[in-house]
Amino acid sequence: MIKTESIQRNIDIDAIRQDFPILKRKVKGFPLVYLDNAATTQKPASVIQALTEYYSGFNANIHRGIHTLAEEATAAFEATRDAVQHFMNAEAREEIIFTRGTTEGINLVAYAWGRQNIDVGDEIIISTMEHHSNIVPWQHLCEEKGAILKVIPINDKGELLMEEYEKLLSGKTRLVSVVYVSNSMGTVNPVKRIIDKAHQAGAIVMLDGAQAAAHLDIDVQELDCDFFAFSGHKIYGPTGVGVLYGKKQLLESMPIFQGGGEMIKDVSFEKTIYNDLPYKFEAGTPNIADTIALKAALEFIDNIGKENIRRHEDKLVTYATGELEKIPGLRIIGTATDKISVVSFVVDGIHPQDIGILLDSRGIAVRTGHHCTQPLMDWFCIPGTSRASFAVYNTMDEIDELVLGLHKVIKMLA
Ligand code: PMP
Repeated sequence: MIKTESIQRNIDIDAIRQDFPILKRKVKGFPLVYLDNAATTQKPASVIQALTEYYSGFNANIHRGIHTLAEEATAAFEATRDAVQHFMNAEAREEIIFTRGTTEGINLVAYAWGRQNIDVGDEIIISTMEHHSNIVPWQHLCEEKGAILKVIPINDKGELLMEEYEKLLSGKTRLVSVVYVSNSMGTVNPVKRIIDKAHQAGAIVMLDGAQAAAHLDIDVQELDCDFFAFSGHKIYGPTGVGVLYGKKQLLESMPIFQGGGEMIKDVSFEKTIYNDLPYKFEAGTPNIADTIALKAALEFIDNIGKENIRRHEDKLVTYATGELEKIPGLRIIGTATDKISVVSFVVDGIHPQDIGILLDSRGIAVRTGHHCTQPLMDWFCIPGTSRASFAVYNTMDEIDELVLGLHKVIKMLA
């Protein structure tokens, strides 16, 4: 409580917007209204500058070099690991593995942990609202091992049915892998309860944190999750870099994911001795530049404060919901009591794709389609939605533009 009160302050959105060069551009003659932040956020100047500084000042391969540039690049790369450890409150820096993104993090666990620990008849639990990245790797593992994939149902507000989840848990459950925040609806799942119940049943838990990391305080020790994956590009950082957190003893017990340079201590034709954590899971030259720039993104978030970001985005969601609900024939998909940063909707008689194209003609970027959650769209019996998703730099005026644009679209097409 004291922490929150001391952090809370009004943030200057205009000043924050000045930090994002792309927000000055026009699209189709209109000022850009960027409401596709769940797909990827825009990047502040500090992140872009970190990339330039690395390439123009100390570009070198890391870890093996003894020359100055290699030492500087290594120090900057490893400084990001420390920053991520702090960002997630991980107990040890060895628990932070750099990946390409959330998708690779989940695949790493499915491949390395899954192939060692899943057997015929074992059960893996996911939920109806999962992103394809948190469905396909487990489905593939189940097919290979003869294991069973179970799915937590939802209600029509887009909330998990927790009693049904508890009924799915049994002595056969090995892993529960769920999304922390739904990318299609913004639902915030009760992950602490999910984790506690899974642990009581003897299962481990992986969280897909792709949509949570930019908006919620992440404390992996308090959550007690076993794995947590997120992507840099959804938290104001570069594409092509992400993080897999794993509890140290789990990561230590797991076999390797990919083999190659960096992840070894010693190689002979008879035997390879693998490197210690975290390098054991970082084969080959990593994405050095983007990993270094990820630290600037974490600093950007830290300077504003997650509490402040969340408070601003909550206002945007509340305002957008209220305004959109006034539009005749518009239905919001995902009305969970606990939701953040996303407003998804359908309009009677108009395909989401057409809404997206016509909004773009007014410079408004929203995402349309199934949002890589086809089973969720099937559950709602819709082909897809239009989705406005918010970041700290969005404004009420932009929501007014969206609403105005939608009125025009409906007038044209209905
Ligand atoms: N999970 C969720 C909930 C997501 O929103 C996304 C990205 N849309 C992913 C996983 C995959 O992230 P990435 O493409 O960065 O690996």
